[in-house]
Amino acid sequence: MHSRTRLMRALAAAITALPGAAVFAAEPVPTVIVDIHAIGAARLTELKSRPSVRWSAEFGTELLLGVDADSKPDWLAQPRVRDGVGTLASAEIWIRDHVCVHQSAQPALGIVGGFEVLRMPPSAIAYSQRAGLVGTPLPADGVMARELANRDGPRAVMGGDPQVQAIVDKIDAERWFQTLSLLAGFNRNSYSAALGSARDWILSAFEGAQLTTSVFPYTLTPSGCAGAPSINIDNPIGRKLGATLPDEWIVVGAHYDSRNSVRCDGVANPQPGANDNASGCAGVIELARAFVDVPTQRSVLFMCFSGEEQGLVGSQRYVESLTTSGDIARVKHMINLDMIGYDPGGTLDARVDTNAANAALLTQYGAAAATYAPELNLIASSSTSANTDHWYFLAAGVPAVFTWENGASIYAHYHQSTDIPANMTRARELGGAILKMDAAMLASVAGLAPPLFADGFE
Ligand SMILES: [Zn+2]
Repeated sequence: MHSRTRLMRALAAAITALPGAAVFAAEPVPTVIVDIHAIGAARLTELKSRPSVRWSAEFGTELLLGVDADSKPDWLAQPRVRDGVGTLASAEIWIRDHVCVHQSAQPALGIVGGFEVLRMPPSAIAYSQRAGLVGTPLPADGVMARELANRDGPRAVMGGDPQVQAIVDKIDAERWFQTLSLLAGFNRNSYSAALGSARDWILSAFEGAQLTTSVFPYTLTPSGCAGAPSINIDNPIGRKLGATLPDEWIVVGAHYDSRNSVRCDGVANPQPGANDNASGCAGVIELARAFVDVPTQRSVLFMCFSGEEQGLVGSQRYVESLTTSGDIARVKHMINLDMIGYDPGGTLDARVDTNAANAALLTQYGAAAATYAPELNLIASSSTSANTDHWYFLAAGVPAVFTWENGASIYAHYHQSTDIPANMTRARELGGAILKMDAAMLASVAGLAPPLFADGFE
């Protein structure tokens, strides 16, 4: 073995011995992928600290390992281990996840745990971050996402509350599926003439849930769609007035616009966008229905955004207007739903994403899932990126989370005309469970108010 390599290996071994340092190996090495679904914290640590491991990158249900070349055959001979993404240094890992607006056409090396893994020279990574390219380098601790089943310590739970349970029990996965199927019948490209009809249908659904409706109008000036005109479109909103803290708002949102392989063409049919994202907007409507006749302390704004496929425009314009008016300070929490209906593996994998500043919320969502949707295999990440409508709320300092299936790249019909309800495997099971978790969290962040008696006294 070359003396320099012996030196490098000794150095890397010394570094690897440091806690949490099994990450930064500048030396490209072969890789393998280990299925770590529900293996537990102790086993996970054991895997990462094996002598042949040069670096590790955790992606929820799967672990990407950089290993010594001579150890690779042994790894591949083990159960739950498959070939990796080629030879790679951890410092050149770039992670892409559910990117509606593909800013770089660079193909991924592979999909690990629902995330796209790309190779990017470290210098380009620094530039990409500065340029705001959607995606992220590997976090310092090597953990992009972690299954809550693989977290250390006992699983956090919520105290079972019969009032919350009653709301959760009102979540009707069949009704939700019928709603998304109906929305999938509209061509909901932001440029489509039918977008207004879909908006009106959403408003009528909000009215049916006893909400006060309005629209947020704005001008869509598309980025990256050469020749596409600026158009005036809007976000439908349904408001539930809070009983005791009406000036504090909780936003429950999802985009309702769709696309297929074309992004800014409202004529090219079909553009059903059943999973992306009739499933999310129908989820917002289903949550509104579950809270009918449930007084909350804070006001809840249920809304569906347009312009998401053109660069998160509908939610960005909305946040900008709240910032201008100062109302952004009223928004105490935001829940975003995007693609909640595809479970290919039958393990009901679901993700809850936010940023580092709000990482504590992940434990709360985990507790809500453990208590009210225990069938969910929840995967948490505090390294979210600008990939859907929670992003500009986070950027404005609002505690916001994104709840969804385990990644978009697992869904073959993503941004295709074949994104139809029939292709959403186990949609009702997964969508229903995610909505139960979100209903419990909404009850928690909005606060349940004591019921008002007929005479208006509490
Ligand atoms: Zn989407």
